[in-house]
Amino acid sequence: MNSLPLRLTLAGTALFAATALADDLDPRNWIGHDRTRPLPPVVDPGFTSTQDKAGKAPSDAIVLFDGSDLSHWVAMNGEPTKWIVKDGAMECVPGSGYIRTLRCFGDAQVHVEFAAPAKPEGNSQGRGNSGFFFGLTRYEIQILDSYDNPTYADGSCASIYNQYPPLVNASRPPGQWQSYDIIWTAPRFEPDGRSRSPARVTLFHNGVLVQNNVELMGDTGWVTRGPYRAHPEKLPISIQDHGNPVRFRNIWVRELGKPGRPEFFLADKVLDGYVGKYEVNKDWIVDVSRRGGNLFFQWAGEDFLMFATSPNRFFAKTTDVQVEFKREGNEDVAYFSVGEDGGMRARKLR
Ligand code: MG
Repeated sequence: MNSLPLRLTLAGTALFAATALADDLDPRNWIGHDRTRPLPPVVDPGFTSTQDKAGKAPSDAIVLFDGSDLSHWVAMNGEPTKWIVKDGAMECVPGSGYIRTLRCFGDAQVHVEFAAPAKPEGNSQGRGNSGFFFGLTRYEIQILDSYDNPTYADGSCASIYNQYPPLVNASRPPGQWQSYDIIWTAPRFEPDGRSRSPARVTLFHNGVLVQNNVELMGDTGWVTRGPYRAHPEKLPISIQDHGNPVRFRNIWVRELGKPGRPEFFLADKVLDGYVGKYEVNKDWIVDVSRRGGNLFFQWAGEDFLMFATSPNRFFAKTTDVQVEFKREGNEDVAYFSVGEDGGMRARKLR
């Protein structure tokens, strides 16, 4: 294996958002002026950016880029990206492909700053084009140099691509730093894959409201609008390479909703390294396979979809089941556990 797991461990320092639980927020659960009602967590709000200087994230945010390194970002296949860091910004290298976060996010408040190339080249969709995606590459908030650069409305800067134009065009001139502040509500799906509730976006562009809690129709394709296709609630955030050297800085996320374990989207080749049959004893074999970006295993007659919380630890969301993969001597082993149980050792069959 390459250096990715180490990078991941560094990027994945366990952070549990100190967000109030949904029950705490529901006024029906409290009498008026209830002294037992939890006080809101204290957060240092940081400070906002200027054109010359990047701002500082609130104290409870997960900082995805602070101007120094790309440790939270990889190419879409999980390998190191060829995007570069220059003068405190990360810059798209045209032709190098999209980038994504190692970590997965569900409902969130997100801040990101971007700047189109100072010398405008091309026009319409060819000028300063990038995109900020939730759900891996499913839902795009368009990034474009829309300053004095007409294009189709639902492809303008701050549009929900191919669905909703922004309420106003709040673009700054190319070369200047601009900001998005996004409230993202992830779509939810029923166990059988049907849509339960759609994705929602509220967006401020340079502090100006441009999307007011709009309901997405599904994926934001070039020619298609949806339909929704079931996917995990938490997935990486991605940024588009659309052939223009757009720059980014000061990217942070505040996770909303129920706190939980950090989740990561591992490279297929890391997951494939775990795929195989694991022998608990000669009558008991656990079958580990991969489905898309998740491991899946059959254990004790049950099927479990597993989510990565580190490069070698996985957990199920349907019940309290974990697995940890290890190398012991010249054997690959897995420890399957339930709750606080110490774990059941299983040897990988060759
Ligand atoms: Mg785009």
